[in-house]
Amino acid sequence: MIREPLTMIACPDIAGQVRGKGFPTAELERRLERGVGWVPTNMQITAFDVIPDTPYGPRGDLLLLADRDTEVRVDFADGSPVEHFFLGRIRHTDGSPWACCLRTLLDDALGRLRATTGFDLLVAFEHEFHMVGGDRWTGTAYSLDGFRAHQAFGETLAAALRAGGLAMDSFLREFGRDQYEVTVAPRLGLRAADDSVVLRQLTRATARRLAQQVSFSPMRTPDGVGNGVHLHMSFVDAEGRPRTHDPAGPGGLAPAAGAFVAGVLRHLPAYTALTAAGIVSYARLTPNRWSAAYNNLGLRDREAAVRICPVDERPGADPAGQFNIEFRAADATASPHLQLAAIVLAGLRGIADGLAVPTPTHEDLTALDAATLALRGIRALPGSLEAALDAFAGDATVRGFFPAELVDIYLRHKRGEVAVMAGKPADELCRAYERVY
Ligand code: GLU
Ligand code: MG
Repeated sequence: MIREPLTMIACPDIAGQVRGKGFPTAELERRLERGVGWVPTNMQITAFDVIPDTPYGPRGDLLLLADRDTEVRVDFADGSPVEHFFLGRIRHTDGSPWACCLRTLLDDALGRLRATTGFDLLVAFEHEFHMVGGDRWTGTAYSLDGFRAHQAFGETLAAALRAGGLAMDSFLREFGRDQYEVTVAPRLGLRAADDSVVLRQLTRATARRLAQQVSFSPMRTPDGVGNGVHLHMSFVDAEGRPRTHDPAGPGGLAPAAGAFVAGVLRHLPAYTALTAAGIVSYARLTPNRWSAAYNNLGLRDREAAVRICPVDERPGADPAGQFNIEFRAADATASPHLQLAAIVLAGLRGIADGLAVPTPTHEDLTALDAATLALRGIRALPGSLEAALDAFAGDATVRGFFPAELVDIYLRHKRGEVAVMAGKPADELCRAYERVY
């Protein structure tokens, strides 16, 4: 069969999808110069293909321009088409940035972090996912046999990631039935969020080549084991030296990192809608799921919204270089760029306000009464996407982190998604999100 290679320019969007346009690779140079046409209402396409609400209607034109250094070119060498795509930025037709471009939003937030602290953020997104229609084996959590069951998948994924410029850190059989996890090496700022997009896409691309199906959806069944996205973050200075750790600081955090964490947690209930963006996300953000249910800080506690991770303390190991904080109230229904931008902007506010590091929690928070929680500044995360959107809409400080146009379309988009899915039973909702994510 005759075939001519195609390439795509794509951008991450509010629905946590990567959308764009393809063209003959023979036209690549011209397309890298000129981009592809885009329209504002595309940002309002929900996960379920419906556009419930858009301020733009059929009006308006934008450009999607590729960043050359995001090129991903992976030949699976099985005769299938070469995966070839670029991530881009959405701009007005005069070339000026569009307020709702999520990659630009993150880039600006990271630029502000650098201007304020002198530090860059080193980030690794950790992803959990399920093999859909897998073996459904019991008794294989973390096991060698469970690993072996999908080792071929893991090895193809490792090669695809390597070819795509990402270094796999680990591939493992997670706890849930048919659940796996893949982690990659941390990278600086925007690149880390791009890596998260590329990782999800190459995992899907691998599954497609192997006639398998994967799902990153936060909850595949109402009572199942959740898939989290955990963001590991640390500060580095202009010389690349680690700047998160101070053995004398509270929780081992250096001053800027401590105030950053305090801001991330203080504002979290008002921006959870941006880091956990699906209706089913809120079944995961409940106690006893090793996810996050409160805006608490934890030392080595896997139910803290922000966990201070352990370091290898044996002689010869460098604690400062390993020291990192992990944000756990996130999942794959959200755009990694928006997740990280929200975290950075909340953290910056913590730095601006000189917030003190919250006292880490050590106990089961469900056992504490409301008064005790309030006294300690701990709040439960919203219980539904609807409540999370109301909290976002109702918090002028957090809304103010973002361009007003983005806040408006985000609320319309996500409230529209809630309306479209209203009345569906929990298992049907889970199936719907499983298919999309
Ligand atoms: N599956 C858990 C989540 O939903 C995380 C388990 C772990 O600590 O790796 O976030
Ligand atoms: Mg895990």
